[in-house]
Amino acid sequence: MNTLITNVQIITQETPNRVLTGQAVAIEGAWIKAVGPEAELRQQLADFTVLDGRGRVLMPGLINAHNHFYGLYARGLALTRPMSNFHEILQYLWWALDKSLDEAAVYYNALVPAIASIKHGVTTVIDHHASPNAIDGSLDQIEAAMAQVGLRGILCYEVSDRDGKAVRQAGLQENERYIQKCRAARGADPAHLFDGLVGLHASFTVDDETLASAAALCQSLERGVHIHVQEDWVDNDLSEERYGHGPLARLYKHNLLGPRTICAHVIHSDDVDLRLLEHTQTNVTHQPQSNMNNAVGRADIFHMREKGILVGLGTDGMTPDIKAETRTGYLLHKYALHNSNVGWQEWHDILLHNNPTIVRRLTGQPVGQITPGFLADMILVDYYPPTPLTGENGWGHFLYGLVDAPVDTVLINGRVVMQNKVVLGVDEAEIAAASRACAAKVWERFQQQ
Ligand SMILES: [Zn+2]
Repeated sequence: MNTLITNVQIITQETPNRVLTGQAVAIEGAWIKAVGPEAELRQQLADFTVLDGRGRVLMPGLINAHNHFYGLYARGLALTRPMSNFHEILQYLWWALDKSLDEAAVYYNALVPAIASIKHGVTTVIDHHASPNAIDGSLDQIEAAMAQVGLRGILCYEVSDRDGKAVRQAGLQENERYIQKCRAARGADPAHLFDGLVGLHASFTVDDETLASAAALCQSLERGVHIHVQEDWVDNDLSEERYGHGPLARLYKHNLLGPRTICAHVIHSDDVDLRLLEHTQTNVTHQPQSNMNNAVGRADIFHMREKGILVGLGTDGMTPDIKAETRTGYLLHKYALHNSNVGWQEWHDILLHNNPTIVRRLTGQPVGQITPGFLADMILVDYYPPTPLTGENGWGHFLYGLVDAPVDTVLINGRVVMQNKVVLGVDEAEIAAASRACAAKVWERFQQQ
């Protein structure tokens, strides 16, 4: 379908940023065809379906650069053991929960947050998945859930050695199978919604043989890895103790760093680590709410930026709302550093420039701007600026206004996937009921471990 979006204030997110009024956006198939004077485009494109923005703000869709959909089933879960540090949080909560997932659970705990992501204006999610007792086809289940609501995704299966060699092998195969499937689909359609990475849990849970296997996959499939790095000191300490090198030195040694790799967290790093990231142009993602929740420390994103490292933002499964994550991160660093002047443009760049750059590096797809030739991923927000809105002050309007404004309409690949605040084609109450039934069984298995 071809659409002409009219009656909007457009934040283009071009460099330099522009705010356009009296202009319309023409979408042909999955792509932005033109941005120009409304009267002219209406005349030229009379056969396009008009979508009246009713004076709202139109901006590029948002991206969540590190997420775990399966974290949904921790909501309301009764814990079986006390957890006093990060390693125990992994052992007693996350590694027990992911072992309790079956195929149906993988599907529902992706579908519910996929719907929520769209409601918060997120149009792409980069997910990191684990379900050691339901590995084969698990990424297809997540893809099916996301495709049902039209959400774009970059998926991977989190390989580790924690459940033995057979499980590790199955994880590697799932990544390989899924990436090959996405490559074939992308070959037929450059706007294809899905792509894959080679997922690894963290340095301290993968031996050198696993890293070598992952590196071979990355080389043959032309992809990078998606891995947690230095989230807690345990990653540094156990990597040194077991394998003789720190996490980033190990990844570098195995040729796993680069512009197609995502290292999530990077909290406990030194300048040698940062040099490796900068030298290899590796992507880093920051997850402030999760870091506070696990009390693992504060990533020095300002230092990383000074060193020339591209830092994006994810939610780590804490929330589907990347807007809320952004403001929390913005406040966290001011609070922690006792400095009200720290961080402004950095946050704009992290969310609205670096996250789209990460997607482009991983998939080659142009997202994150309202510009002809870009994919038509965009959101209409119930925000009517009460003060002048310009290309220069757009970030102030985002951080203190747009962040709280309801998202009304979402387009992904040119398709309207939410309109009048309703995600199309799904019955949310029915899906939530099916999810609850599924979660009850998952919780039962969790309690038995
Ligand atoms: Zn994570």
